[in-house]
Amino acid sequence: MSDTNHYKVIVIGSGPAGLTAALYTARANLSPIVFEGLQPGGQLTITTEVENYPGFPKGIMGPELMDLFRQQAKKFGAESVFQEVTSVDFSSRPFKIVSDGTTYFGDTIVVSTGATAKLLGIPSEHEYMGYGVSACATCDGFFFKNQHVMVIGGGDTAMEEATYLTKFASKVSVVHRRNELRASKVMQARAFSNPKIEFVWDSAVDEVLGKNEGGRKSFTGVRLRNLKTGTITEFACDGLFLAIGHQPNTKLFEGVLDMDTVGYLITKPHSTETNVAGVFAAGDVADPTYRQAVSAAGSGCMAAIDAERFLVHHG
Ligand code: NAP
Repeated sequence: MSDTNHYKVIVIGSGPAGLTAALYTARANLSPIVFEGLQPGGQLTITTEVENYPGFPKGIMGPELMDLFRQQAKKFGAESVFQEVTSVDFSSRPFKIVSDGTTYFGDTIVVSTGATAKLLGIPSEHEYMGYGVSACATCDGFFFKNQHVMVIGGGDTAMEEATYLTKFASKVSVVHRRNELRASKVMQARAFSNPKIEFVWDSAVDEVLGKNEGGRKSFTGVRLRNLKTGTITEFACDGLFLAIGHQPNTKLFEGVLDMDTVGYLITKPHSTETNVAGVFAAGDVADPTYRQAVSAAGSGCMAAIDAERFLVHHG
């Protein structure tokens, strides 16, 4: 760590975007520091196998992939701190951030705090996350060939994921808490006309069910509650996809960085620069559309190059 806690680049967040920004700025001799936050490695650390990250034809486990990202950034001098940033002051340069009671100064900042898939808020969903329960059909749909899966949600994400899952699954049951979808008409029509998709209305998951045989966990279904009649049923299926929305992790930046109504950071066109010159945003925190590890890594690279160019002009 520098004596003065003063860095040319401070990266907040350690998913594919943050660690790629760290790698690129480290290779540019900018000695970045990465505040890894409460979930070092980001969302991929709660998935199992990643099969769509280019360069790994045999697939790779999410936590292992993120460890490789970190090692590669470290090799060129990036410093990782396993701490959360608790406040920021971007009103003047050098920018200030506070972590674990200490103030750090940054000539540039890369914000890559990611987004969090919303969960149902029941304890049992955590137990089978990665073992049949997923929040990403693009990541995990492939594992459910000819199987029966359930999708929770009634918005565009749920319709998109349900439709995507029909490429693999034999049957997709969409469970929604009302009897009317929130999704756009075109997405609804696509889902309604798909013979593999059935709808279970007015229902909520009370409990995620599974078994644990000799340490091998597997998901077996859910306990469903009909919200109108109160009837409880056990619904057996092979996979559960939560598609009830994402929340970008931007609470720290409220009133400081421009964000949309959901909370995604807004960057300038063809740039990763936010409304504060010298503060850049990369990855899911600024991406409501793609939310893939590879697109996050790509934007982390862009933020690093933007930060490097900014430093050339502004010191
Ligand atoms: P969303 O529109 O907020 O929909 C979330 C859905 O999940 C709603 O149906 C909601 O039910 C349900 N839900 C929320 N919390 C729940 C809970 N605790 N338990 C059960 N159900 C719950 O989120 P989204 O579908 O992720 O879409 C977000 C934005 O991205 C939207 O603007 C959408 O149009 C856009 N998007 C666009 C595309 C596309 O155009 N290709 C694809 C994906 C997303 P209620 O309806 O009862 O509130």
